Amino acid sequence: MRHRIGVIGGGPAGLAFARVLHRHDCPVTVLERESGPDARPPGGTLDLHEGLGQLALDKAGVLAEFRALSRPEGQAMRILDTDGTVLRDWRPGPDDRANPEIDRGQLRDLLLGPVDVRWGEHVTKVVPEGRDGVRVHFADGREETFDLVVGADGARSRTRPAVSAVTPHYTGVTAVETSLDDIDTRHPDLARLIGDGSVAVYGVNRALVAQRGSGGHVKVYVQFRAPLDRHTKRDTADAGAVRSRLLALFDGWAAPLLDLLRHGTEFVHRPLHALPVAHTWAHVPGVTLLGDAAHLMPPLGAGANLALLEGAELAESLAAGTGDPDDTVRVFEERMWTRAARWASFTTAGLERLVSPDPAAALALFDRVQPPG
Ligand SMILES: Cc1cc2nc3c(=O)[nH]c(=O)nc-3n(C[C@H](O)[C@H](O)[C@H](O)COP(=O)(O)OP(=O)(O)OC[C@H]3O[C@@H](n4cnc5c(N)ncnc54)[C@H](O)[C@@H]3O)c2cc1C
Repeated sequence: MRHRIGVIGGGPAGLAFARVLHRHDCPVTVLERESGPDARPPGGTLDLHEGLGQLALDKAGVLAEFRALSRPEGQAMRILDTDGTVLRDWRPGPDDRANPEIDRGQLRDLLLGPVDVRWGEHVTKVVPEGRDGVRVHFADGREETFDLVVGADGARSRTRPAVSAVTPHYTGVTAVETSLDDIDTRHPDLARLIGDGSVAVYGVNRALVAQRGSGGHVKVYVQFRAPLDRHTKRDTADAGAVRSRLLALFDGWAAPLLDLLRHGTEFVHRPLHALPVAHTWAHVPGVTLLGDAAHLMPPLGAGANLALLEGAELAESLAAGTGDPDDTVRVFEERMWTRAARWASFTTAGLERLVSPDPAAALALFDRVQPPG
């Protein structure tokens, strides 16, 4: 391959893409806005599905390392009523490796490996210029030209406008994230409540999920229906004020559930946005999108998996090097759109049920995905 390939974004999509190209000795430039791998806390834990994320890691040659690091026991899922009654207590079998969990930071390091990333590269605009290639503009005024630009730059992609005028819309649901450290020693009761994996509680138009990561780290996510401006324009830096608002919102729920919020340290607001289900675009030579940039959807366990597999698949097809790379991209896009549309439809309907006026709808969804017994 003699093409100059640039990928914007060093998240799951961009790193899987770069790592698979690297495995096939194909040069690629990774442009990442963050100043370094540890510039920001990496976030919580991800479950990687056998036929999606794990398949991508296999293509990247790191599946064995993933197996050594990941937590199959983290697949365990407990559902409680708002009064703390256990409604479901699902545990994986001893050989169940369908969706093991891995910390986001571990996944990033696994993929980074030998990949050379240009950190601190803030892309502002991507402009296709026909036969002259695709011009990438940076925040400091520099410009650089590539033959193929792959936008793996997430929800607020700066690459997307080069191919599509569509922007993400607010789903009506806001998530607030907090975390607890050293749960086993500092909060043993909460550690028992969460178990090896996750605990979820579904109330009327609100939900609470706590997920165990490695090293006794727990992420707590609450989700609730709210107008966009009501919860996002407030000062979210004041942890005490956010905590009080959340405790009021979940008033009446069992004390241990509220303790998950009481002991939370920092709070991060994430109003959930999504692109329309089945978002596609008229193919633009020299530019494509991967992952959230292409198909941002509600966070129900698919986004990172799709991002990884798309990155790996596109890289593998380009590395095979048969024919015009642009034809390869066209074929890839069709495949990505079809698969992503199925998941976008599933996760959109899922969010409606999980944060709904009828908590029984959430339980029914869980039973469909994870039948009891
Ligand atoms: C709370 C929560 C929980 C989730 N849980 C799961 C789960 O369990 N399983 C799952 O599969 N998915 C999950 N998801 C979804 C998953 O996080 C995303 O779908 C996934 O991270 C998308 O990967 P990506 O590489 O496309 O984008 P991102 O992960 O967003 O990565 C984009 C990268 O591009 C960089 N970037 C952005 N703009 C620029 C720019 N202008 N210039 C240069 N670089 C730029 C960013 O810094 C970032 O590194 C969850 C999401 C949330 C919010």
